[in-house]
Amino acid sequence: MKLRPERGILPAESLEDAADRAYRLQRVSERLAEALTPQQVLDAVLTEGLRAAEARAGAIGAISENGETIELLAQRGYRDNVLTDYARFPVTADLPMSHVARTGKPLFISSMAERNTLFPSLRGRGQDGHALAVLPLTLEGRLIGVIGLSFGQDMEFSESRRQMKVTLARQAALALERARLYEAESAARDRFAFIAEASELLSSSMEYEETLSRLAQLAVPRLADWCSIDMVGEDGEIERLVVAHEDPEKVRWAKELQERYPPNAAAPHGVGYVIRTGQPEFLPEIPAELIDAAIGDDEELRRIVNELGLHSSICVPLNARGRALGALSLVAAESHPPYTQADFALAVELARRAGIIVDNARLFREAERGANAARALAYVADGVVLLDRDGIVRHWNTAAAAITGVAEEEALGERVEDVLPAWESLSAHMPLVRPGEQAARPVTVPLTIQGRELWVSASGVDFGEGTVYALSDVTDEHALETARAEFVATASHELRTPLAAVYGAIRTLRRDDLQLTDEEENAFLEMIESETGHLSQIVDQILLAGQLDAGAVEIELGECNPADVASAVIESASVHLPDGVSLRLARNGTQRIVCDENKLRQVLTNLIDNAVKYSPDGGQVEIRLAAEDGECLIQVADEGLGIPSSELERIFEKFYRLDPQQTRGVGGSGLGLYICRELVERMNGRIEVDSEPGRGSRFTVALPAG
Ligand code: ADP
Repeated sequence: MKLRPERGILPAESLEDAADRAYRLQRVSERLAEALTPQQVLDAVLTEGLRAAEARAGAIGAISENGETIELLAQRGYRDNVLTDYARFPVTADLPMSHVARTGKPLFISSMAERNTLFPSLRGRGQDGHALAVLPLTLEGRLIGVIGLSFGQDMEFSESRRQMKVTLARQAALALERARLYEAESAARDRFAFIAEASELLSSSMEYEETLSRLAQLAVPRLADWCSIDMVGEDGEIERLVVAHEDPEKVRWAKELQERYPPNAAAPHGVGYVIRTGQPEFLPEIPAELIDAAIGDDEELRRIVNELGLHSSICVPLNARGRALGALSLVAAESHPPYTQADFALAVELARRAGIIVDNARLFREAERGANAARALAYVADGVVLLDRDGIVRHWNTAAAAITGVAEEEALGERVEDVLPAWESLSAHMPLVRPGEQAARPVTVPLTIQGRELWVSASGVDFGEGTVYALSDVTDEHALETARAEFVATASHELRTPLAAVYGAIRTLRRDDLQLTDEEENAFLEMIESETGHLSQIVDQILLAGQLDAGAVEIELGECNPADVASAVIESASVHLPDGVSLRLARNGTQRIVCDENKLRQVLTNLIDNAVKYSPDGGQVEIRLAAEDGECLIQVADEGLGIPSSELERIFEKFYRLDPQQTRGVGGSGLGLYICRELVERMNGRIEVDSEPGRGSRFTVALPAG
């Protein structure tokens, strides 16, 4: 190309040249208009643009956001190593592009010699270059990059040539910005779509572990090469929930790595830092020193990390209610470009939503667990009372309400002493243990609650934030225990009295110094006979009661005539009838019944014995037989001591006696009526009593007719 004069009238061929240049610029504009992505813009500038400018080579650099560095985006026509050698250089460098970036003005250099004068550091470099044009890429006064053009020969740049290059640069800047905006907009659209998709996923289920795992899969490869989510476990340990990568082999590898190098909660960077501080960490470019520090001397780890090629990362906390529940990490490695502010904002938003979901799911689980516990507590037989540290009732289950007679709604939120005055005497005796300690034996305390005499067994656990008490109503057990203790006393007395009599009689009979008449001897022998009979009766009762308890009594049902059984019992009872007591059978039509004849005999014997026994002042004992509605009623009525109505139920209980101290001198084991009721019920019948104290009692046995 010839050198053209700078001023004056352009010759005719110059007009042609100008038209040609205009045409070429037009072509560049068309190509640039078609370019959608920044890459397409760069391609268009470095092909059509170079051709239009008649340049041999060209390169385009972008100014970093902070305006401090120039990053070479693309080149055409230079040697391959240019892109690596000048990948990124500071605006302060002694280089033509840096110079233009600093001044914001185009720079035209006619020859290598001029270049070397201006930029001494370039001396000896770029031997193949001659003239050079470096132009700022500006938009509304804002510098976004620099374009450099190298020409195949030295040349003076005429005004029109200069103008042409400036126009090219302006067009390139516009196209580049437009493509960037377009790209940013479609990226924003993608991000928005991703957030929408992720939100739908996050709200799809309460199983947040599953949902977060799927979220990590969704993020790969759209947001990251690697996506992992770590959660804070119950004991504060960091637990990896998921790690996702497109290649399952790499995931397996990452899991192994995780096991070998578990996350460090105290680490100054990464997951540990983010969870500890609740602050996100954004590393657009992971600094080599950071990787070095993390690796230490571990060569094996260094090899792995190098192979992974991690270069940019975002780690954001899953925060909820001021606490970090976990962290979401996105890492760019082999395929993903370095992260931008927009990516970071997206990650923050994603983590915010995930944090809420995890928190909600946990609250829901907690509530559900609480509801299940409450449901369980509502059905347990023991009363459960939970007091907070201030002694306010926080839980009062159904059984607690039943035992204390205080309804749940009356108790909740109140001081326990206010709703249950007896509490004070209860808690005074109650042993409290700490969680995990061996429970102390519950104490059993008598309480009068709303006029009821109760025995309550209670124990408590003090867990720091409050105390939980277990109460049970052991009134029945306590009564049985008392009766049993009384039985031991009664039974020993009952056994000792006849034994003493028998012993005394035998000693008397054996005495040589006493001359007994036949009559006297007979009286002693009869006494021995009757007392031993009495003894064996008591022993039989004890044995039978034990067998009944064990379910070891066999009932052989058959048909029999109750009148015959009653007559036989009366006959044998009549033999030892005390003075003043008479026995009589009254039948008002009878019918055969279904029963075990021996057991019925035993029942009637007991009832008649009692009737006689509890008529210490004499009177008539009548056995009445009647048929009624398919049943046979056998009544034993006396005119003796009678039974207070409050005791009518209890006399059938095992060991229960009205008068354990035997103030009326009437002994017994407290087992007779218990045995009667058990036997009658096993024969499909029932036994009832009515009585008037001082006037007598009437026991009725009803058995099914045959
Ligand atoms: P015991 O061996 O003490 O007689 P029971 O079980 O036969 O035991 O009777 C229980 C209690 O019921 C007795 O202690 C007595 O107080 C009362 N009782 C039973 N039968 C009569 C009755 N016919 N008249 C009055 N009290 C009775």
